Amino acid sequence: MILPNALLAATLLAPTVARPAGNSPPVTATQGNALPPIVDLEKAYDSARIAEAGSIPVPAGYGRYCSLSYPSGGFAFDWGDANADPCATMLASTPGGTIARAGLWSKTGGNNIVVRCEDGASVLLYAIEGEPALQQAFNENKTKKKCVFTVAPKSLPVLNAPFSLNDDDVSFVNGFDFARGFTVQTNAGGTSSKVGYKGDAVGYDGHDGMDWPMPKNTTIKAVQKGVVLVARGRNIDKYFPNCPNGSTRTQNEVYVLHVVGTGVYAELFVSYYAHFDSMQVSAGDVVTKGQALGKAGSTGCSSTDHLHLEIARMSNTATMYRRHLRVPATEDYDQTTMIDPYGFSWHAKAGFDPWAWRAIADGRGALSIGLWASGQKPDRD
Ligand SMILES: [Zn+2]
Repeated sequence: MILPNALLAATLLAPTVARPAGNSPPVTATQGNALPPIVDLEKAYDSARIAEAGSIPVPAGYGRYCSLSYPSGGFAFDWGDANADPCATMLASTPGGTIARAGLWSKTGGNNIVVRCEDGASVLLYAIEGEPALQQAFNENKTKKKCVFTVAPKSLPVLNAPFSLNDDDVSFVNGFDFARGFTVQTNAGGTSSKVGYKGDAVGYDGHDGMDWPMPKNTTIKAVQKGVVLVARGRNIDKYFPNCPNGSTRTQNEVYVLHVVGTGVYAELFVSYYAHFDSMQVSAGDVVTKGQALGKAGSTGCSSTDHLHLEIARMSNTATMYRRHLRVPATEDYDQTTMIDPYGFSWHAKAGFDPWAWRAIADGRGALSIGLWASGQKPDRD
């Protein structure tokens, strides 16, 4: 065999490696010069949790979409039915792209679509029924560069209520607050930087979830199958330094990861439940839909027995394909990707869900999706 010159030179010039003293085994040149592999601990953590959570079946009527970005500034966007693999199909014909977004779209219901092109300088919003929305979003942007297409079905009915809906002792007080620092139009025609889920100006700013007062020891249930990321008592003195004497400062709280669909198209959600009097699960537990997580209470400097529930999107947010899943050691997730699980429903005046896109420059926001399954939507009026 005749070696090409370049390869021959490389072979001859392979570095020599000093053999360690003592009885250590010989070290080859390759081993001696190799750097240890770089392990992305967060990706490894996320992958393990996603596998543990299992897959919640995607309801009928949904397809898969994929938005690819290329180093050249080019992009690709395509969609298909429930079993399509548009990312792989596009990458097979045009290799070298990375997934900017991949997830689910509604074939028959509404979709909200955000298109950002040219480093986010322009943001286009579409809210159209069914497949024409995706086609229109593509057609109107196909001559631009660096476009990323974020699609969210208006509804994906997969979650059950976190308590028995037959329980007449459960009421409702606070809902998700949308505006959070952005001045938007209220449904009454004014403007406010504190706008609640009904489109009204509200006094309670920055509330990421729903509060349901209920008798102590009411059973709180997992909204779907998943894996418990964290179940803990957390000291929240720093948030409520003036907590009255006698209040329970350690807040009992549970975080559960839910995976809807499979592979790169799975949509990830975390449900977060707070103020338990007692908890019945631990980190790492795999729970079934409706499984008891604990008993309602008033821990965490709360003034009344109630459930505080938040839903966070961990996939296809305003700025991320997938958000890391690890819950901070002493904090809640920050407020960047909390959504309204009733969907964004008061858009008459404000237009598109303001929280989903106004803060894109800060890396925040996620499109809300109506997530309650049929017959499982708790009242909130
Ligand atoms: Zn609350």
